[in-house]
Amino acid sequence: MRGNLVRILHDATKDDTEYVFGVRVDGFEQDEQKVIGHFSDGSSGEFDLLVGADGQGSRIRRAILPAGFDPYWRVGIHMAYWFIPRTASDSNIRDTCMVPGGRQIMRRSHNPTETQVYFVVREESEEASAIHREPVERQQEFWANRFRDAGWQTERFIEGMKTSPFFYSQEIVQVRTDTWSKGRVVLAGDAAHCASPTAAWASPAPWPAPTSWPARSTDTRATCRPHWRTTTACCVPSSTRSRAKSTRACCAWACR
Ligand SMILES: Cc1cc2nc3c(=O)[nH]c(=O)nc-3n(C[C@H](O)[C@H](O)[C@H](O)COP(=O)(O)OP(=O)(O)OC[C@H]3O[C@@H](n4cnc5c(N)ncnc54)[C@H](O)[C@@H]3O)c2cc1C
Repeated sequence: MRGNLVRILHDATKDDTEYVFGVRVDGFEQDEQKVIGHFSDGSSGEFDLLVGADGQGSRIRRAILPAGFDPYWRVGIHMAYWFIPRTASDSNIRDTCMVPGGRQIMRRSHNPTETQVYFVVREESEEASAIHREPVERQQEFWANRFRDAGWQTERFIEGMKTSPFFYSQEIVQVRTDTWSKGRVVLAGDAAHCASPTAAWASPAPWPAPTSWPARSTDTRATCRPHWRTTTACCVPSSTRSRAKSTRACCAWACR
């Protein structure tokens, strides 16, 4: 889905915009007239504005915040996400399996050949917080160990990690800061105000719908905390579509 959106935006703007792939912004300096960006290939460029849209772990944000300021509010939840080959029994409706021990497994299919898999675990340990910066093989080992006894289609999902075209492992955090700009540098998107993937609303996020978007974005603790608490319990339907037959069957398994 995300890839499709990126392709649409790129196709619509590529004739008027210069895209540079495979290069990071490593640093910048600015004065009242300009900002100079320094890139990972050793080149530099002069610009009117620098927009830091570099995501939850934003380097640009770090550069404009006071030294030592920690913008992350950690919710004690970690998530992994990857693709596996689709099988005949995978429908487009999402299946959710609530697993004892603060764990959750989700799968959904978005095209004829691929199925998305999510593992979610509630864990407040240093190991869990650090794993997302380890090599992918270590991350996959971590997730396989946490879920190997979870039943349902877990073995298939773990096996599929090895051939997935990508593997994301991430701590669920909120970005909280009162500083969104400095001079000619400004933050946008998750870099500025990541509400956490579990609070996302743009596409079919696997979490309960908020009663109002503004209330949700300004007070995620109040709106999301009650739900997160329920994820440690077994058999709690997690969203509107989780009442699908297959999900009930899966939850029944988890409760045995
Ligand atoms: C597992 C998971 C599931 C999610 N599900 C949903 C969902 O269902 N619905 C929803 O609405 N949201 C969901 N989200 C959240 C959503 O993905 C983010 O809110 C969104 O991608 C943020 O967009 P962004 O452009 O601000 O940052 P990102 O998508 O993080 O993009 C940042 C970009 O900046 C690049 N970058 C980083 N550092 C540099 C640098 N120094 N120089 C240059 N480029 C750099 C990165 O490579 C990346 O391409 C999910 C997130 C995760 C992790």
